[in-house]
Amino acid sequence: MPRIERLRLSDLTLPEDHPEAQRGRQAVVFGFAIDHPDGVIVVDTGVGRGNAFIDEVYLPTVLDLEEALAGVGIESTSVAAIVNSHLHFDHCGQNPTYYGTSVPVFVQADEVKAARDRLYTVSEWASVPVEQLRAVRGDEEIADGVRLLATPGHTRGHQSVVVEAYDEVVVIAAQAVWDIAEFHNEEATPANVDAPDLRDAAVASIRRLKALDPTVAYCSHHPDVYRRSR
Ligand SMILES: [Zn+2]
Repeated sequence: MPRIERLRLSDLTLPEDHPEAQRGRQAVVFGFAIDHPDGVIVVDTGVGRGNAFIDEVYLPTVLDLEEALAGVGIESTSVAAIVNSHLHFDHCGQNPTYYGTSVPVFVQADEVKAARDRLYTVSEWASVPVEQLRAVRGDEEIADGVRLLATPGHTRGHQSVVVEAYDEVVVIAAQAVWDIAEFHNEEATPANVDAPDLRDAAVASIRRLKALDPTVAYCSHHPDVYRRSR
């Protein structure tokens, strides 16, 4: 089983009118590093620097991805691939660190389409150079034992990552749920679902991830972890 590290890349203060703010205005942003023998796979790159609007509205603390990786003993040059669960600003913010390199960036095609809307995200962060973009349609195995699973709900083009070896199954649910309680309860709270017509898809995505009987499941914005009960 490759080592999987959770990286605390940012802390945000949600604006009062943010849909999740009623559950608390402080939010953490996790990225993940899968230390795969074929090269490190980074899942989500957190918030970027230097966007005046984001800085003013979300007051983010930003830990540089390279520093976060160094903190778990991974050199940033050993990153072989990036996966974005979706392209909201807090999941692709440090993608540009790898723009102009040969590192492929895996994003669902539906998400690429959604991110063309300027209000959807920070476009400089989300605009993956065409040479690096790997637009995924549905599920895809991107390395031995590492699969992308389309998990629409939070956004139409949301995806999660599953890492399997022997009888271990690690699910990086990302923002398929806001917190692990939603995972336990198979509940998709309206605040975490972008559009009302995605509610059913969101619940189906949670059930699909749970059906894998994960040993561990992580999400992007909450420190609690789901563990298989045995
Ligand atoms: Zn999001």
